[in-house]
Amino acid sequence: MLARILNGNKIRDEIYSELRGEIERLHDAGIQPGLATVLAGDNPASKLYVSSKIAACEQLGLLSWRYTPPASVTTGELLALVSELNANNDVDGILVQLPLPPQVDTNRVLEAVHPSKDVDGFHPVSLGHLVTGRPGLVACTPSGVMEILRRSGIAIEGANAVVAGRSDIVGKPMALLLMRANATVTICHSKTRDLPGVIRGADIVVAAMGRAGMIDADWIRPGATVIDVGTNTITDPAQAERLFANFPERLAKFREKGRTLVGDVHPDAVNVAGAITPVPGGVGPLTIAMLMSNTVKAARLRRAANSNNASLNAGSGRAAASLANI
Ligand code: NAP
Repeated sequence: MLARILNGNKIRDEIYSELRGEIERLHDAGIQPGLATVLAGDNPASKLYVSSKIAACEQLGLLSWRYTPPASVTTGELLALVSELNANNDVDGILVQLPLPPQVDTNRVLEAVHPSKDVDGFHPVSLGHLVTGRPGLVACTPSGVMEILRRSGIAIEGANAVVAGRSDIVGKPMALLLMRANATVTICHSKTRDLPGVIRGADIVVAAMGRAGMIDADWIRPGATVIDVGTNTITDPAQAERLFANFPERLAKFREKGRTLVGDVHPDAVNVAGAITPVPGGVGPLTIAMLMSNTVKAARLRRAANSNNASLNAGSGRAAASLANI
């Protein structure tokens, strides 16, 4: 039987319609949340990602700014820009698009972003909040995966969840979020001894390795939920034939274009899983949706805190309390 397809575009649209209401209420309170993007250099994929993020801001009525320092930018120059954005009260979120040029100390730049504006959730303080179960800004892709699971009615509590991949931006926060939702979590990586065996025990598999079609259909427990975070462009015809042997339409499209996007899970898994995210159109749309959601959340939390300080000075916390509830 074919798996239920977990449609990321549909879930993104649901989130956007909820965000629109929240943004309207903030507008009524005189606040227009804003996202500043920093795109250093000319990486074409990064340019495309930043353009999609700016387009999403415009679609939702958020302010946005685009800073495009040259590929020769230094760590010091980027630190100065981040510091300026930290101090700008109109800016609620700062997004530093990765990868940064090789001469730049990426960690120093990411750590310079004020945690209250860390809409990517990459700052060690944001990760610390996640580890200790405090509220805060959580990395967009893993929080998007949680939205897919929750909004699709997938039972998480008590489930055996396997996360394949342990990066700081996807695998680790993913595992923490699943644990926070009371799953029993196993994290796999390149040194895991029996990846197929571990995955076979999973009720929920989250694949985030960056290895095209590596997770075979027969590694999936029948009926399991499969979330495929992997985004891999393939150009090798032999690889396309191996992956799309049972999907003639996709093979035909590959032959027409000479390239296609695939996840980390073999497409045949759709015949075994109970529910599965497609690639493209699964996790991808949620990543930008959660960036928008984090920008609105950052505006609400930071401005409530600011207004709290102002109100406290004026002897009243009422304005701040109502803002925090928006
Ligand atoms: P990453 O930093 O390269 O991490 C990959 C992880 O997978 C590492 O922990 C690595 O293990 C593990 N791994 C690699 N090969 C493996 C193997 N053969 N067996 C078991 N584990 C293996 O990648 P990432 O940034 O987390 O991204 C992962 C994938 O998600 C990529 O395809 C990326 O494009 C995609 N992605 C998609 C979105 C989206 O919006 N859809 C967002 C972010 C990322 P070690 O730690 O041992 O090296």
